[in-house]
Amino acid sequence: MHAWQKVIDTFIARHNLHNSVPVAIERAVDAEGIFLRFTSGLNPVLAYAVALGPVRRITVNANLSSPMRRLAVAHELAHLLLDDLAVAHFWTGDTSPFTQWIAAKTERRANLAAARLLIPPDFLCGEYEDYTAIAAACDVPPWLVEMVAEREPLGSRSREHA
Ligand SMILES: [Zn+2]
Repeated sequence: MHAWQKVIDTFIARHNLHNSVPVAIERAVDAEGIFLRFTSGLNPVLAYAVALGPVRRITVNANLSSPMRRLAVAHELAHLLLDDLAVAHFWTGDTSPFTQWIAAKTERRANLAAARLLIPPDFLCGEYEDYTAIAAACDVPPWLVEMVAEREPLGSRSREHA
């Protein structure tokens, strides 16, 4: 298991995040002391996070659909939990291929972390057979489920445990 996965799992356990679906991601963000705000007029920005010492805030585009809004909250939460912001800030304005590679990697990790937050592992264990059913139950975009399933095919974990 990667270090980032342990950080995310600790957060999930701390807030009993996987006790019900769709997971109460906004309530957990609030309980963590992170200021969450939804605002219109952010287009084309989906969301952003700010960390100034102990002050942490997440701002999300209010015009998004419910699944995208939840993903945006979880994605920005992941950046905060994984201390990605210093890195992101450091690289701002630099457009070298290496920087773009780092940024892409950081973004992909934030999406994987968001999926880990929003999709309880039971849902990937074979009870559900298609992405859209899982996505509907968890109130997330289907492509997020697909992204996780590509790394860990549906049913693979249940076979391991069988
Ligand atoms: Zn991001």
